[in-house]
Amino acid sequence: MASASTNDIEFRSVTKNYGAVTAVTDINLNVPKGAFLALLGPSGCGKTTCLRMIGGFEQPSEGVVLIDGREMNGVPAYRRPVNMVFQHYALFPHFNVEQNVAYGLRQMRPRLAAAEINRRAAEALEMVRLGSFAKRRIHEMSGGQQQRVALARAIVNRPSVLLLDEPLAALDKKLRSAMQIELQTLQRELGITFVLVTHDQEEALSMADVVCVMSAGRIRQLGTPQEVYDRPADLFVADFVGKTNRIDATLEPDGTTLRLGDGSALAAIARPGLAAGDVIVAIRPEAIRLTRAAVGSTSFAGTVTHRIFLGSSAEYAVTVPGLGDFLVTADRRGMNESHLVEPGEAVFLGFDPDVAHVFPGEASSPQV
Ligand code: ATP
Repeated sequence: MASASTNDIEFRSVTKNYGAVTAVTDINLNVPKGAFLALLGPSGCGKTTCLRMIGGFEQPSEGVVLIDGREMNGVPAYRRPVNMVFQHYALFPHFNVEQNVAYGLRQMRPRLAAAEINRRAAEALEMVRLGSFAKRRIHEMSGGQQQRVALARAIVNRPSVLLLDEPLAALDKKLRSAMQIELQTLQRELGITFVLVTHDQEEALSMADVVCVMSAGRIRQLGTPQEVYDRPADLFVADFVGKTNRIDATLEPDGTTLRLGDGSALAAIARPGLAAGDVIVAIRPEAIRLTRAAVGSTSFAGTVTHRIFLGSSAEYAVTVPGLGDFLVTADRRGMNESHLVEPGEAVFLGFDPDVAHVFPGEASSPQV
């Protein structure tokens, strides 16, 4: 059938209440076909609720969810072109790998021929690189392999949307990194829309091509990983997606001069329309230069209080009198200093005006 829409998933003014609890409020979202979307946010922000409304496990209290241009309100989960991979895989322990993968195909009506079921199950197992594990029992598989069985089972009946609820949470760090690459590759090969729920910003940034940052039931920002990292829409996004340093400042009535706590003036790019008064300047740890001599006009004298050696880079805690504590990440290759700076050393912090983001002060920021 010809496709009805260029959007695979659409939320139109969707609100979901559980009794007196409002889980999500007035969500508007368009996910293009074949996109890899990550719903990212802290615990309780409403990510899973959004995922479950796409899957048909929950219905919106207000508004409409559409899949491929069709309104889904009232359509049960099993009638939607969607499959879901759960955090704990939900595999059948008494079935072998192939039987787990083929399960959904065996339930299809009208029935599929046995040869077709076998062919499709084998194809799905090949896609997740488990072709030679078909007869293994589930308890004989490692955590990462079980994750791949769950994926194979979810793609075997060719859904147009795959929902992934924290699918890598149970894996150790190394395996998780490997699976991030595999999931991304699989999504590109299949060309189907993936919606991933995660509270891990690194996971969202590394895998998705669209990131939806949520807090308290609302969307804070929707954009590419680079957009949300480099141009956070507000202080919440700046803080949640990556680390950030905050400097309290006052925006003077001229609308351009920022006065810092130590009395110095700062040249930074304030957003148009920002009211004079208390503001917060946010700067990424890696956007700050750490040097032994003052460089450029924006340069603050401080003392290193702590260093964390990370191999290819190092993280420094630096106290600047009158301004507070800063976190600075220095890539060792990029450093013009030949050796690591030691705790106790006097240093200078500097940054370019265009890497500093200026947001309204806490009092005028929306609640998170
Ligand atoms: P987590 O990362 O912890 O899974 P989340 O971002 O996925 O969190 P949701 O599970 O969508 O958040 O929950 C959003 C809000 O709705 C929370 O306040 C939660 O307590 C509430 N909530 C979720 N499911 C129900 C339910 N069945 N009944 C009542 N409240 C619920």
